[in-house]
Amino acid sequence: MEPKEQAVSDPRDWTEDEVAARIRELRCRLGREVLILAHHYQRDAVVGLADAVGDSLKLAQAAAATSARHIVFCGVHFMAETADILTGPEQAVYLPEQRAGCSMADMATPEALDWAWEGLAAAKAGKVIPITYVNSAATLKAFVGRHGGTVCTSSNARNVLAWALSQADKVFFFPDEHLGRITAHDLGVPLTDMPVWDRALPLGGLTPEAVRAARVYLWNGFCVVHQMFFPEDAVDWRHKEPGIRVIVHPECPIEVIREADAYGSTEMIARAVDAAPAESKWAVGTEINLVARLAERNPDKLVVSLSPHQAICANMYRTRPLSVLRVLEGLAAGKPPPAVRVPASVAGQARLALDRMLDLS
Ligand code: SF4
Repeated sequence: MEPKEQAVSDPRDWTEDEVAARIRELRCRLGREVLILAHHYQRDAVVGLADAVGDSLKLAQAAAATSARHIVFCGVHFMAETADILTGPEQAVYLPEQRAGCSMADMATPEALDWAWEGLAAAKAGKVIPITYVNSAATLKAFVGRHGGTVCTSSNARNVLAWALSQADKVFFFPDEHLGRITAHDLGVPLTDMPVWDRALPLGGLTPEAVRAARVYLWNGFCVVHQMFFPEDAVDWRHKEPGIRVIVHPECPIEVIREADAYGSTEMIARAVDAAPAESKWAVGTEINLVARLAERNPDKLVVSLSPHQAICANMYRTRPLSVLRVLEGLAAGKPPPAVRVPASVAGQARLALDRMLDLS
């Protein structure tokens, strides 16, 4: 059996309050050298530690604007990569949980994109602008930078896609089929003009004629969390709570979005619920941590998850206050953990694409 002091000194044995107190102490010591960013889908205990909380766009802008030397990014890997690309070489970005990835981002690889791009050229598709959702690896952002395209988030997808459609006859949208579909459709592109590009098949499973006739190609990637919402969920809530408003994220399938009263990014959802009148009722179709937080800070309203199941992002949930504490202890001791570094050959082209996006936002 270990001596009591030794056991007590191990942060894994501390209470959440003790961990939070130690983090506050280290924050004071490290001062403005450190910026902690947290995505809306992080658990409450992590959000409570952050200097800024937001969606991908807001956090990318915060990273681009800060002069802090150390950025602790409580989110998933592609977000930390984006922050690294947007910050200077003297700054470092740390992902407190190295294994926090994104299954949607993993659904598109540069090799698969190169294969698709060659197919488009062989099928004589004409001028195509590639757009990658920010939920993608830095190598994909470099791909779009190299091919005259850009990046979008769920906040600015409409502006970005409108720009792309004004530049070329065709747009290749990846990796989220659903965000691409609803955005293009709301810009007036008929559903019949936006075939799904099956990433496992030659030419995306399309004929050369279909490739030439299309306006937008939709890569068949998706977010597992936002596939947990169904149109029937909205019908059920309206039956149970007359007058309830349904608001969902654009990563949901179009059938769910069409059944909702409104859709938008996590920032837009949070703003809409926070600004709503007392006594209003909301069924929210996005990750459960944000929904629970909205419910807690709006006790005068009914705020529920649209899904009867736990729509949780397991990758976002990996980060705990203890993960943040480990990074800060390393920084305070002069032994920082490995930073997320995007190789210069990738970062340059990806930066081009991200700068185009920030200009369009
Ligand atoms: S919520 Fe979906 S898109 Fe966002 S990080 Fe999790 S898996 Fe990826």
